[in-house]
Amino acid sequence: MTATPRLLIVGPQGSGKGTQGTRIAQAFRIPAVSTGDVFRANIADGTELGVQVQEIIKSGNLVPDELTSAVVRDRLAQADAAGGFLLDGYPRNLGQVHDLDAFLEDRGENLESVIELSVPRDESIARLTLRAEEQGRTDDTEAVIAHRLSIYERETAPILDVYRERGLVDSIDGVGTLDEITERILTALIARGLNPAS
Ligand code: AMP
Repeated sequence: MTATPRLLIVGPQGSGKGTQGTRIAQAFRIPAVSTGDVFRANIADGTELGVQVQEIIKSGNLVPDELTSAVVRDRLAQADAAGGFLLDGYPRNLGQVHDLDAFLEDRGENLESVIELSVPRDESIARLTLRAEEQGRTDDTEAVIAHRLSIYERETAPILDVYRERGLVDSIDGVGTLDEITERILTALIARGLNPAS
């Protein structure tokens, strides 16, 4: 029996983690759960959650852990996540690692791989600036981009040390064509005994 693909993808803004996360989730036929996407959909729909997080997201700061972890717990409790999932953009700090650990432990589940997508800072900034022009995201202005990258370096990068100690991190070079990068990730996952759906 192959292991259940419970995966995280971690990388700075502009690393392509959203795009690669979607591709990997498709390959394994598991849901890709992006907290950023969930928040943006709630903002667009004008839900209570959307109203709560709107200004925080616009400023590039992190939504409080309690709120974010509750969103993820609800999502992972849905039936389609029973056979695995790929989390994109969560956990984002050590508090959220702790919340996710507690959730998985309650369910007797484990993570199988934490995919670290690495790109140089200059490359991230160039990609984000392009996306700002293309998608008009309110959190993609130059000042907010720099702020989000500094939060990544300060709060999110340390979570990789925790997962590295657990032997879960697969470090992937995030520079190359989309197909090349997907292939690198799949190769690392297959080496862990995780087999994509054929
Ligand atoms: P992303 O699309 O992952 O870059 O997320 C966009 C924004 O949503 C972030 O800058 C945060 O304001 C918020 N956000 C997304 N995921 C999280 C998280 N795990 N914890 C706190 N805030 C988050």
